[in-house]
Amino acid sequence: MDKSIKNFDVAVIGGGPAGMLAAGRAAELGAKVVLLEKNSTLGKKLLLTGNGRCNLTQIDCDVKEFIEKLGKNGKFLFSALSFFGPNEIINFFAKKNLLTKVEKNGRVFPLSDKATDVLLALIKYLKEGKVEIVAGVQVKGFEFLKNKISGIRIDDKIVNINKVILCTGGKAYPVTGSTGDGYLWTKELGHTVIAPMPALAPIKVQENWVSDLQGVSLENAKINLWQNEKKQASFQGEILFTHFGLSGPLIINASKNINALLQKGSVVIELELFPELTISELDKKLILAFRENNKKDVKNYFKEILSQKILNLILKLAEIDPDKKLNFLTKKERRSIVMLLKSLKFTVAEVMGFEQAMITSGGVALKEIDPKTMRSKIIENLYFAGEILDLDGPTGGYNLQICWSTGYLAGESMAKII
Ligand SMILES: Cc1cc2nc3c(=O)[nH]c(=O)nc-3n(C[C@H](O)[C@H](O)[C@H](O)COP(=O)(O)OP(=O)(O)OC[C@H]3O[C@@H](n4cnc5c(N)ncnc54)[C@H](O)[C@@H]3O)c2cc1C
Repeated sequence: MDKSIKNFDVAVIGGGPAGMLAAGRAAELGAKVVLLEKNSTLGKKLLLTGNGRCNLTQIDCDVKEFIEKLGKNGKFLFSALSFFGPNEIINFFAKKNLLTKVEKNGRVFPLSDKATDVLLALIKYLKEGKVEIVAGVQVKGFEFLKNKISGIRIDDKIVNINKVILCTGGKAYPVTGSTGDGYLWTKELGHTVIAPMPALAPIKVQENWVSDLQGVSLENAKINLWQNEKKQASFQGEILFTHFGLSGPLIINASKNINALLQKGSVVIELELFPELTISELDKKLILAFRENNKKDVKNYFKEILSQKILNLILKLAEIDPDKKLNFLTKKERRSIVMLLKSLKFTVAEVMGFEQAMITSGGVALKEIDPKTMRSKIIENLYFAGEILDLDGPTGGYNLQICWSTGYLAGESMAKII
């Protein structure tokens, strides 16, 4: 193995989406490339994406809007995204006979609904470029001489190499091989690493009764984040209750903000079950509805507008007998129902850790990387791509697009600078 690695111009470390695209593109442009992966197979995490269907990109926005979705670091992606954006990756896969379809909110999936087909298309690309795939080897670090990487440490040996693209991913879902190895080496090489944190993760809450709602999903819920009795942010979308707390796209996308707030103190998530109505509008609606249905009992009336599990919980928290007739409900009881429907409160116990997070926020500091080439500004023969960067987005295909854009650009610029 060492002998073969010695004959290559470029070593790409990490066989995830970013590494595969970087290796394939550099090879397509004529570089002799070796791709080093510590798992026995490539793309272990890629196969889990989109619940095995792979939401491979996002097309509901232009470059500017895409960048805005990534927050304050988004503008770093401008060059890479303009060079190789969502349309380019869709065309890339189409040329490899992988057709795609667009689902709700601009999320793009393979027509076959199979992440395996995405992986197979990438492996085909690597093979066409004669990339040497060396799986089952763990890179241990680098040798370093005068602002250049002079060798890669693999097991106990040192292998000489001209250039390196680092695509070892973040720390999320470590069972897939992403254990943050690249952060340690880049620090040793003089780069700054912004503290990696779990992002796009479910939330554990303190209220044990949340387990009563396990399995309930709400399509258009609204949450408000509260800290020190001040509303800090609001989000709207789909929420899913689990045995320990809250999940679903709405919560997962809010988890980064929740984590940031938790650094400053405790956080309360207020759930609005009827976001389109104010408290007084909802109260008036219920007064009218109770009048029209005054012979019905509470449980029969509310089951028309609430799911059974939510109804049971609201009545339990409001301490109201489900069999009570609507015309016997007191004003106080009606007001407590209204308040629970408008403001069901959960105290955050924790944002679940790297084991359950989909993404890592933080990573290699962007100011030390040239956004036009992905080349390190500190080590002249080092490039970066993918989740290892201090760049992340919400759910919906943004994160894989970051990998495609930065991976392709790193492969392109590295091959051209050879
Ligand atoms: C459950 C889940 C679902 C997701 N779904 C989506 C989705 O539908 N759409 C979307 O856009 N994003 C999704 N993501 C995020 C997306 O998977 C990541 O953004 C993406 O995989 C990051 O790619 P990467 O190539 O940078 O790193 P990774 O995919 O993490 O790959 C890094 C590779 O480097 C290897 N490696 C690490 N250390 C070493 C070493 N020392 N030596 C050799 N090799 C090493 C690892 O084994 C790994 O294979 C999801 C994530 C998860 C966890």
